[in-house]
Amino acid sequence: MESYQAFTELLCCPTCKGSLAPEAGDVLRCGDLRCGKTFPVVGGRPVLIDESRSVFHHGDYRSDPAASSRGSESGTAKATEGGSAKATEGAGGKARLWLSRLPSPSVNLSAVRCFETMKVRLLERSAAPVVLLVGGGIRGKGMSALTGEPAIRLINVDPSPDSTASIFCDAHDLPFRDGSIDAVVAQAVLEHVADPWRCVEEIHRLLKPNGIVYAETPFMQQVHLHGYDFTRFSHMGHRRLFRRFAEIESGAVAGPGTALAWAWRYFLASWTRSRALAKALALFGRITAFVFELTDHIFGQRPGALDAASCIFFLGTRSESVVSDGELIAGYRGTQR
Ligand SMILES: [Zn+2]
Repeated sequence: MESYQAFTELLCCPTCKGSLAPEAGDVLRCGDLRCGKTFPVVGGRPVLIDESRSVFHHGDYRSDPAASSRGSESGTAKATEGGSAKATEGAGGKARLWLSRLPSPSVNLSAVRCFETMKVRLLERSAAPVVLLVGGGIRGKGMSALTGEPAIRLINVDPSPDSTASIFCDAHDLPFRDGSIDAVVAQAVLEHVADPWRCVEEIHRLLKPNGIVYAETPFMQQVHLHGYDFTRFSHMGHRRLFRRFAEIESGAVAGPGTALAWAWRYFLASWTRSRALAKALALFGRITAFVFELTDHIFGQRPGALDAASCIFFLGTRSESVVSDGELIAGYRGTQR
């Protein structure tokens, strides 16, 4: 992953989209005199966050990630569709580490194919396409088509202070110039933002004409990442979220089997107020629900699966036209006719 300095020509103020200029003391300042906001550069990584419009604050970021005031429970540190917990130090850390090592079917029926499509299309249009990984502080699934292609330049952005992001920013106010990015990836991100419609408007704004977006967003999934979990989308709702994009492909990332496995685990965990017992029950649920998830590899892409999918994806290109609600409804692909 390259330093932010390789992309300075693409960056702008997250508030007014004005130009940024470096100042002494590891600070970037907005060049628009009516704005003039300043942003710290911490450990070589800029914090391009407007504190007045975000739940994240400049004081959250330290040169030493371990010293950051918000730990791994903050922000958009992603919980993946497999539900694997991020191993952390301290109480419960060992249990989570052990849990994360358990075999998991890790159902993802779309990512590998969609990233391959994205790579081919990107290399057709540019010798050095730039791909923005929104919420990319923790690497998403199936991304080797992009990470293994040296011509593709990846920018990793995330608000989580302990992420590996090269730029800290909030997806509601992305600090990139209009029409500057070739493709955007948002895997398991849009459920964790307060206003996903605004975030998708930002993605549309910063993409080049016909720029590509790939998003995976939960549908039938329980709450994860504590208070940072806001919204779910049906296939139809997700398509409407991206109504200013032309569809290449959409469907289920993981189907009803994964949804059933999640529901079973959370059903068991809901029996008790004890966090320790809830974790033990969740572990039992994970072991006993294994077979549910495996069924997605057989049935997860059938029409009926779309009505009960655990997670939905959309792959499309930035468009200047808007898909109407009538067109969306006419395009329903499930089985509830
Ligand atoms: Zn500004």
